This record gives sequence, structure tokens and C-alpha cells, in this order.
Amino acid sequence: MEIIHYPHPTLRYQSKTICRVDRELKAMVREMFELMYDTRGIGLAANQVDLPLQLFVVNASGEPGNGEELVFINPVIDQPKGSEVSEEGCLSIPGVHADVNRPAQIHISAYDLEGNEIDMVADGLLARVIQHEYDHLQGVLFIDRISESAQKQIAGELDAFELEFNGHQASQKIPDQATILKRLVEVENRYC
Ligand SMILES: [Zn+2]
Repeated sequence: MEIIHYPHPTLRYQSKTICRVDRELKAMVREMFELMYDTRGIGLAANQVDLPLQLFVVNASGEPGNGEELVFINPVIDQPKGSEVSEEGCLSIPGVHADVNRPAQIHISAYDLEGNEIDMVADGLLARVIQHEYDHLQGVLFIDRISESAQKQIAGELDAFELEFNGHQASQKIPDQATILKRLVEVENRYC
């Protein structure tokens, strides 16, 4: 398992509902937490590790053994309140940061790995991480939500990511689009 980088097509894929949790999925969630800690993140969505599933993990403390490890399966966000601007980054676009305006508070309902219902009101950093990860599941990246001037500022960095990605596809380190898509459909069929 590894974190895929912009502009990998799985980052733009609409993640699918999870109908069952098996031992393999639980192991993948564990691995997602480890990857997230290793890369100094506080949230990680399944499609960032090339899994087309409605699932993301969060630990707002960013440290193993600290804070709370949260797993959100098939999440739905509603009841947005207020708005707040804060700087964001993303493990799939490492090194790029920009201000994003988001609701300051949200309500999220989801399921955890044991099938328990999660029903939570979040604000502050937790609300921001949850919204950032939820966006991933819809194929939305934080760079889609930044101002035009901020987009101009990071354009050069995004170009560099595109060059790197094209190079990896040319050298077959990353498979072609058809192979990527075929694998995504196989995984989503396994879980629903
Ligand atoms: Zn991200």
C-alpha cells in the first residue's frame, strides 16, 4: 500500500459504498493509519491509497498512541454552520499548501469498522479534516476549493507533479488508465 499523488486518476474517482467489512479491509485500515503517521498526516482517504471505497481515517493529533483514531465508513455530512479560512495541505500533493474556506462546523453520520453508527458534530481542526477527507471520496481535492490567485501560485508545483506522473506511466511504474480502472471496479465489487 502506498499513497498515490496528484494527478493519479483514482483521486478523481467517485468512491463506492461499502456493504461489508472483512478481515482484509480491517488490515487495510490499520495500514492506512500507519501510512498516515509515517507521512505526518492527520487524515487519509481510501482513494489516496488507490482504494475506490467510501472510507477515511482521521487522528487529529497525528501521533500514534495520542488522540482518537476515527474510521468513517459511508459518511454523510450535513448541517454546515459558519465559515473559516485555514491553510491546508494534502498527502497526495505533498509540499503544496493553500488557504481553504470551509464551514466551521459540520454534522457527520457514518459507520465504524464494527458496524456501529457514528453521529457526530465536529468543529475546529476536526471539522476541517473530516471535510477534506470527505471531499476526497467525491473525487474533490483541496486545490479545487482555493482562490484563483492561489491556484496561479501553485500552478508550477502542480505541473511538476503532472510531469512526474506522466513519467511513471511511461515507465510503467504506474499502470495505464484502463488497467487502473479495471482494478478499481474489481475492488469495489468485492465490497458491495
Ligand atoms: Zn488530502
